[in-house]
Amino acid sequence: MTLPSYAVDFRGFPACPCLAVWIPVYELELQRRALLTGPLHIYQLIGGAPDSAGTHTKGGALDDDRVTEQAIWVARQMGADASWHRRLNWDGQGGMEHAHHVLRGCPHNDPARYQITAVDAGFNGLGHLGHAALDDGPRPLSGRTWREGIAWAKQLQQQEDDLMVFSEWPAAEKKALGQFIQDQVRATLIETDTNGDGIAVPTHFGSIVKDLVVDVNDIKKKIGA
Ligand SMILES: [Zn+2]
Ligand SMILES: [Zn+2]
Repeated sequence: MTLPSYAVDFRGFPACPCLAVWIPVYELELQRRALLTGPLHIYQLIGGAPDSAGTHTKGGALDDDRVTEQAIWVARQMGADASWHRRLNWDGQGGMEHAHHVLRGCPHNDPARYQITAVDAGFNGLGHLGHAALDDGPRPLSGRTWREGIAWAKQLQQQEDDLMVFSEWPAAEKKALGQFIQDQVRATLIETDTNGDGIAVPTHFGSIVKDLVVDVNDIKKKIGA
């Protein structure tokens, strides 16, 4: 098999440029969800494996070993709706168990694109027109392209970064948060000392603290107000 001119090397496998960008983000998303430890185990990217019926010859298709429903769900959310768990003997010829993915919106996936059409129509991508059987899920599909899928995953990964545990925060950010809380408490308590007797009942904190009574003079002393 001759490799297409746009093929790039991805960890020793020939790949189209879309796969080379998509796989590391998919890999990270699987690791983040504890669906994978270490690198993704790739079986085939661009390749001419005879039992793949030519779907891998141009790009945009990936075979790996993450076959759980959760992993297939992540791949579908990330722009590979045409992702399936192919079980042992999936082809009736002893074919090995693997996960097969086709990236939506990859301009290099010509020979595999019928499988995207098939999953969109509710079929499993095998056989004539990919209509051998109904899709085995998980559905609903995302409808995302592989680029939109990367954006979806990166947004989630960024949110996780933002949720860094407090003890690991930089000192300046800890201090800023402490100051913010102090300012909020000060403003709230002084404002709710309505009759000036030095006793504030912060009722607008809601029912959780409705019984909380604070000595404002004590607080004022502590914060030097
Ligand atoms: Zn591509
Ligand atoms: Zn495949």
